Amino acid sequence: MTETERLQEMLSESGAHLQGHFCLTSGLHSANYLQCALLLRFPAFAAFAGEALARRLEPFRPDIVLSPAIGGLIIGHEVARALDVPFLFCERQEGVMTLRRFPHPGPVSFVVVEDVITTGGSSLEVGSLIEQGGARWVGTGCIVDRSGGSHRLPGALHSLWGVRFETWSPGECPLCAQGLPLVKPGSRV
Ligand SMILES: [Zn+2]
Repeated sequence: MTETERLQEMLSESGAHLQGHFCLTSGLHSANYLQCALLLRFPAFAAFAGEALARRLEPFRPDIVLSPAIGGLIIGHEVARALDVPFLFCERQEGVMTLRRFPHPGPVSFVVVEDVITTGGSSLEVGSLIEQGGARWVGTGCIVDRSGGSHRLPGALHSLWGVRFETWSPGECPLCAQGLPLVKPGSRV
């Protein structure tokens, strides 16, 4: 079994990846639902993903791991632990990404780590913020790359699973046409 196949198993087992007929928060319908927090609530799964991602980022020899809160907190910490380097995070303050709790690390090499990357917007914000202080952005990693290669990040994006899930507006959804019951993830009956 490959690392990606094992991860896919963990995503399903933890309920982080569901397959069926879903109404997403955007209002669009999809046959897939992904919520990485459900995977990362299990420390053993978080450690597996962190170690696997660390192996992909190790060749870039980062001095620190940097993540955007909240999505990047757990996986960023796990990657930093596996690489034995410090972990810093940025957070939004009145809509603006800031390095609120840490002094600027100076002219170090860093990697940005997130759970899921779709547009790469948050990674781009935190990476650019630290670069302004003379640090060097040497790589980016995520558990699931949903960008389909369309992200605007500098350099290569390293992920454990690259996947694009199709979405439809309710009127054009083939699953609605099949009469499959619609599920709103996160809601409890
Ligand atoms: Zn539908």
